[in-house]
Amino acid sequence: FNVPTPKNEPVLNYAPGSKEREALKAALEAARSTTVDVPMFIGGEEVRTGNTKPMNPPHDHQHILGHYHEGDAAHVEQAIDAALAAKADWEDLSWEHRAAIFLKAADLIAGPYRAKLNAATMLGQSKSAYQAEIDSACEIIDFLRFNVAYMQEIYEQQPNSADGIWNRLEQRPLEGFVFALTPFNFTAIAGNLPTSAAMMGNTVVWKASNTQIYSANVLMEVFKEAGVPDGVINLVHVSGPVAGEVIFNHPEFAGIHFTGSTGVFQHIWKTIGENIHKYKSYPRIVGETGGKDFIVAHESANIDALVIGMVRGAFEFQGQKCSAASRAYIPHTIWEEVKEKLVAKIAELKMGPVEDFTNFVNAVIDEKSFDNIAGYIDGAKANDMVEVIAGGNYDKSKGYFVEPTVLLSHDPQSTTMVEEIFGPVLTIYVYDANDFGLALEIVDQTSPYALTGAIFSQDRYAASLATKALRNAAGNFYINDKPTGAVVGQQPFGGGRASGTNDKAGSMINLLRWVSPRTIKETF
Ligand code: GLU
Repeated sequence: FNVPTPKNEPVLNYAPGSKEREALKAALEAARSTTVDVPMFIGGEEVRTGNTKPMNPPHDHQHILGHYHEGDAAHVEQAIDAALAAKADWEDLSWEHRAAIFLKAADLIAGPYRAKLNAATMLGQSKSAYQAEIDSACEIIDFLRFNVAYMQEIYEQQPNSADGIWNRLEQRPLEGFVFALTPFNFTAIAGNLPTSAAMMGNTVVWKASNTQIYSANVLMEVFKEAGVPDGVINLVHVSGPVAGEVIFNHPEFAGIHFTGSTGVFQHIWKTIGENIHKYKSYPRIVGETGGKDFIVAHESANIDALVIGMVRGAFEFQGQKCSAASRAYIPHTIWEEVKEKLVAKIAELKMGPVEDFTNFVNAVIDEKSFDNIAGYIDGAKANDMVEVIAGGNYDKSKGYFVEPTVLLSHDPQSTTMVEEIFGPVLTIYVYDANDFGLALEIVDQTSPYALTGAIFSQDRYAASLATKALRNAAGNFYINDKPTGAVVGQQPFGGGRASGTNDKAGSMINLLRWVSPRTIKETF
């Protein structure tokens, strides 16, 4: 590369007395003591409609962080027009100039905006300081820097030429605009989906999740300061159906970059299919959706590592990761020891607001999510085949708190073993250690998803068996590690089956979806 060689951004540890801890505390304090008025951004203009909605910390839902201005269909039209108007100049700008803008954005987040963006993610999405640091600092910085390096590689790949013939490959952006629809659970994903398409010369209409608008607003501030031109990334705050109605009927709709629920993605796919005759080109559909991610232990597993993997994999950020471990398969020969250590570890986890850095568990994102998770826990309590091993309580009086909950299911097909919950609930099935092969078959066949999964085994033969048997059960597979926390540039992320199109976020595979190459042959 001749772009700056990408290196993963070091994770700061926020130890008591450290400079970064002081800066973060000050940013949290500043954010809590002011309220922000959050506009939409269309063609570089701040758009305020007066139709405002409050933004509250999930762990303290009566506190108001600010309000955002909600728009309607006309604003989505304006955002599309702004994106289309900005397109010619943007794609004309040489890739080096586009790259420089996003490298600058990465530097701004690594430096002056780090505390502010982390504080926004902590307060707006109820993430602990550590979980915010690996997301709204390190991962977004890595996405930007690594993608720029992949971008250079893409532009430099050229076909062979021959005597009297010169062949060229021109990586054109898609014709039209790209729609980025982003989730609440990672500020980094919210930042990556619009920027990766924009980097390749596309202009974008971005709709963030309503519960991530608070930190999305800081991202827009960064993009502006980094020099993203007006109209290249337009952020609208409208309901999903309002956005969909305008965007999926537009002839210039060229592609969607999506992370969110499987149901929404499948609905979008069908809508695009029904409207296919309306578009100039076949739209690119790139999506990462749900998961029912597993941990399977072999009886040779290192039990301490396994327990840490289960606790971190299932309960960090309250299990609200598409990659979170939500089902585990433990052989009967080690179950008693695993259970004892797991229950003891969970008893050590403190739950509470993010402002106290010693809280490992914070709140789930909103009331709808809280009620949904509570419903699953109640269902499990009413099921004779399921026992509550740890947790099981919830309380939404001040914030949306759900205890880290472990269920033991005597039925490998019970509801919480099969369905995605998107909360801090881990269901365990104890299998007969004499039939590891059958256990792997159950893991493979239980869920329609295939995002992440892990095998814990010190026996290399068993690890190899699991790797083969679960070949299609996860797009990100871990041996002796938790199934969360993929690092950009190291473990490209994405899954198959119902979990998405597996276009690996933060990789060349993903960036290639945002170009439509033209081959040019010239003869002399
Ligand atoms: N990339 C994240 C991880 O490896 C998960 C992303 C998601 O939840 O969509 O944990």
